[in-house]
Formats: sequence, C-alpha cells, structure tokens
Amino acid sequence: MSDYGYQCEWCDGVVLEKILPREIFRHSRGFVILEDAPVGVCIKCGHKYYGAKILRRVEEIAMNRDKAKRTERIPVAHATHS
Ligand SMILES: [Zn+2]
Repeated sequence: MSDYGYQCEWCDGVVLEKILPREIFRHSRGFVILEDAPVGVCIKCGHKYYGAKILRRVEEIAMNRDKAKRTERIPVAHATHS
C-alpha cells in the first residue's frame, strides 16, 4: 500500500504518491539522490512528503557510504532495488 493518500498539512489538498525520476534527500551526514523515488506530493500546493519507507532507504544508502570525513560525491541509487 501507498505511504501517502492523506491530507496535506499546509492546505486542504490530498497528498498522492508520485514517482520522481531523481530526488535529493538530506540526511544527518549529507545528501543522497534516489532515482524513481516514490514521494508524496500535494495535488494542490505541491508540498513534498517523504514516507517512512523512502527515508529508511535514504538512511540505508547513507550508512553504506565510506567513512570519509567529507566527500563531494553524492550517492545515487534506485529507490527500491536493494
Ligand atoms: Zn497542500
């Protein structure tokens, strides 16, 4: 089932799942880009919501990164393939 389909926090629109070809996510140590990411988007105001599933995936990719203190590279991964 979809993580979305609830009412927007900012307006009376509905948040529906949209597959975005490339979405950048912020996490505690930097950024992760997911391809074909299922993101919740309000049909009225366009506010984006990230469900638990997608945030878990972001964390998973983030944890697999090498332990460099700083990197300019941004990991890119498919949103659902493991
Ligand atoms: Zn909205």
